[in-house]
Amino acid sequence: MLWDCPGCGSKGLLGLTHRHCPSCGAPQDPSRRYFPTDDQKVAVADHPFVGSDRACPACDTANAARADFCGGCGAPMAGARAVVVRGEQVAGGEGFEKDSAESARREASAARDAARAAKVVPPAPPKRSWLPFAVGAVALGGLACAILAFVVFGKHDATVELTGHQWKRVVQVEEFATVTETAWRDQMPVDARLPTCREEERSTRKVADGESCSDVRTDNGDGTYSTSQRCTTNYREEPVYDTRCTFTVDRWRSGREARAEGAGVTPAPAWPEVSLRAGTGLGAEREAARSESYTLTFRDEEARSLACEVEEARWAALADGSRWLAPVGRFVESIDCSGLRAP
Ligand SMILES: [Zn+2]
Ligand SMILES: [Zn+2]
Repeated sequence: MLWDCPGCGSKGLLGLTHRHCPSCGAPQDPSRRYFPTDDQKVAVADHPFVGSDRACPACDTANAARADFCGGCGAPMAGARAVVVRGEQVAGGEGFEKDSAESARREASAARDAARAAKVVPPAPPKRSWLPFAVGAVALGGLACAILAFVVFGKHDATVELTGHQWKRVVQVEEFATVTETAWRDQMPVDARLPTCREEERSTRKVADGESCSDVRTDNGDGTYSTSQRCTTNYREEPVYDTRCTFTVDRWRSGREARAEGAGVTPAPAWPEVSLRAGTGLGAEREAARSESYTLTFRDEEARSLACEVEEARWAALADGSRWLAPVGRFVESIDCSGLRAP
């Protein structure tokens, strides 16, 4: 490491050997050490590293780690703290090409500021909060939406007359048929026939692709530094291919549906007659899901026709021409049959 004498302006003094300025005798300030350029660097021979320098508790002079007494004032070095060291520098990073006493000073002062900030919790800056305003705006927007929804979808109780009953019952029918499917070969069903296969990208994997290395300089804290190399592995994505097959296979698939529908309570609703093609081979049919719905239609005092679905038992129990109270839409033609009650 090098240092510049702030007293007489001598530059490029050696951190390890020039503990004092050879021109004016000023002591070296370890916090102003900087990394030399390639041209400036001097190899240090036979220098055992004993640890970072320590600052004298009495006069702040930097002393070698093994010193028991300060070379400047003679005070005992017991309990002395290590001097500030420079941050690591990576080739290509800031200051690597040209370091200076000025950079060292900036770095040391930034470190002091950070240490002070960590110790003292800064008082929270008084801030004008926009939160109440935002909450107010959201609340206002919500209210507007609610009013709009109330006006458009709002309901009020009205007297309605039951005018009709409708019902519908549907049976889904599945057919056993030859279908075409696609799957990865390892997931193909055992009864797949006539597969035609080709290679397709199924996934990707990361593969190592060389290393990126940089020189790194580390301040030893005793006026010397060391250089090392740091490497990270590079990776690239590589496609992984697999075999994808298209094949035919015999499967149950949804086919037609049988439906029955009618109006009125009598005759009672019935499931449609479903005649299935029997057998177990291709073309055979079987019943699948069933569904049913029972609809009541009403007329309100404004002569609007309103409809809703109910359970079958309730549907059958209400007589045409009977009058009811029910929540109906103000502007949309809707009726809520769960709120149906005697007037
Ligand atoms: Zn000097
Ligand atoms: Zn001292």
